[in-house]
Amino acid sequence: MSKVVQSRLVQNRRDVLAGIGAMGLAGCAPRVAGQAVLAPGFVKPPLVPIDVRAERIAKITVCLRPFRAAGPRIEAETVAAKRVVHNYGHGGSGWSLSWGSAEVAAGLALEGGARDIAVIGCGAIGLTTALTLQRAGARVTIYAKERAPETRSARATGTWSPDSRVADRARVSADFPDRWERMARASWATHLGYVGTAGNPVFWSDFYILRDKEEQQQAYAPPANAIDFAHYGGRLRDLAPRSRPLTRAEHPFPVAEARLMPSLTFNVAELSHRLMADFLLEGGRIEQMIFETPADLARLKQPVVVNCTGYGARALWKDETITPVRGQIAWLPPQRGVDYSLYYRGVSLLPRPDGIVVQAVGPSEMFGYGDASEVADRAEAEAALAAVAPLFTS
Ligand SMILES: Cc1cc2nc3c(=O)[nH]c(=O)nc-3n(C[C@H](O)[C@H](O)[C@H](O)COP(=O)(O)OP(=O)(O)OC[C@H]3O[C@@H](n4cnc5c(N)ncnc54)[C@H](O)[C@@H]3O)c2cc1C
Repeated sequence: MSKVVQSRLVQNRRDVLAGIGAMGLAGCAPRVAGQAVLAPGFVKPPLVPIDVRAERIAKITVCLRPFRAAGPRIEAETVAAKRVVHNYGHGGSGWSLSWGSAEVAAGLALEGGARDIAVIGCGAIGLTTALTLQRAGARVTIYAKERAPETRSARATGTWSPDSRVADRARVSADFPDRWERMARASWATHLGYVGTAGNPVFWSDFYILRDKEEQQQAYAPPANAIDFAHYGGRLRDLAPRSRPLTRAEHPFPVAEARLMPSLTFNVAELSHRLMADFLLEGGRIEQMIFETPADLARLKQPVVVNCTGYGARALWKDETITPVRGQIAWLPPQRGVDYSLYYRGVSLLPRPDGIVVQAVGPSEMFGYGDASEVADRAEAEAALAAVAPLFTS
C-alpha cells in the first residue's frame, strides 16, 4: 500500500468517527484553549448519564451495507423487454443519499414517457424513489420481499453520513464526486423538510466526539489491501454545521479532548413508517413479491421497473461488485432525558425514540468489510458497552 493511501486511511479513521464522514470534522475551527462559550449568567443543562450495563441490552440487530467500489449503480438497461433502472449499492450512505439518488433514478425511469412504474424494494431507496416518481406524476407500485421493520434499511443507525463507505476513491469515475455532491445536496434539502413534522422522523441531536490522550497518540496500522474509501465531506462545508472544540468546563466527560456538533439524525423506525404511509396516501400500492432471477420481471405489467434491491441485488442480479460490510447495533431501552449522541473509543451511542443505538464502528471503515454474517454477536455488543462505560462511571 502506498504512503499516500496509508496516510489517507489514518486520516479517514480520525475523520470518519461514528460513520459521520468528514462532515463536521473536516472544517473544524482551530482549538482556542480555555475559551468559554457561555456568557456569564448562562448555565448549560446537565447531561443525563447513559446506563450502559450489559443487562440492559434489549435486542441486537445486524445489517449489511451494500458497498460498491465504483459507487451506487444508477443506470438503465433493457431486461425481459422492460426498461430497468438500477438504484442500489449505497454502502453506509443509503438513508443519507436516498432522496438525491431517487431524483436521478426517477429521471431515468421517466425518460421514455412511461407513467406506470414498478419499484422493486421497500427500503430507504425504494421508498424515496417511489415517492419521487409519484410526485412527478407517475402511478407507482412497490413490489418487495420485505417492508419495514424487516428491511435492512430499518436496521441502520440513523445518522447523516452521505460518504460513509460510498465508494473506493481509486475506482470511481471522474464525474462521481460531482454526482455525489448533487445527490447529497438534494437529499439534505429534502431531509430537512421532515424536521419538526409529526413524529419527528428527522431531528437534530448534540453529538459529542470524545478522545483519550492514548487514542490521539496511538498510530493506526491499516490492514493490507485496505480500501481507500472516498470522502467528499469537504464539498459540503457550507451545508452541514461543523464541530467545535469544547473546554473542560463545557462537558462532563473524563477525556482529553471533546468536540461538539449538531448532528442530523434519522428516526429510522418513524421515517420508514412515514414514507410508507405517504406513499399509500398518494395512491401507491405495495405488493409482496420475491424475484428469484431477472427473468421474473416479466411477471410485472409495468414497462418500466426501478430496481432498488440493496444488498439483495448481489443475489438477484448476480452483481458481485457488491461487497457486504457488516454492522451490528445493540439496543438499550430509551432513557428519560438522554438526548445527546456521542463517539468514544470506536463506539457510537445514539438516542432514538425506539431505543439507544450502541454500535462498535471499529478502528477504520474496513471494520466488517467482506463479512456477510448477519448473526448477532453478543460479545461484540458487550465489549462496545464496556468501552464507553468509563464515561459515565469514573
Ligand atoms: C449497521 C448499519 C448502519 C447504517 N447506518 C446508516 C446511517 O446511519 N445513515 C445512512 O445513511 N446509512 C446507513 N447505513 C446504510 C443503509 O442502511 C443502506 O445504505 C440502506 O439501507 C440501503 O437501502 P436499500 O433500500 O438500498 O436496501 P434495503 O433496505 O436492503 O432494501 C432492499 C429492498 O429490496 C427488497 N428485495 C431485495 N431483494 C429482493 C428480491 N430478490 N425480491 C424481492 N424483493 C427484494 C427487500 O425486501 C427490501 O424491501 C447503515 C447500514 C448498516 C449495516
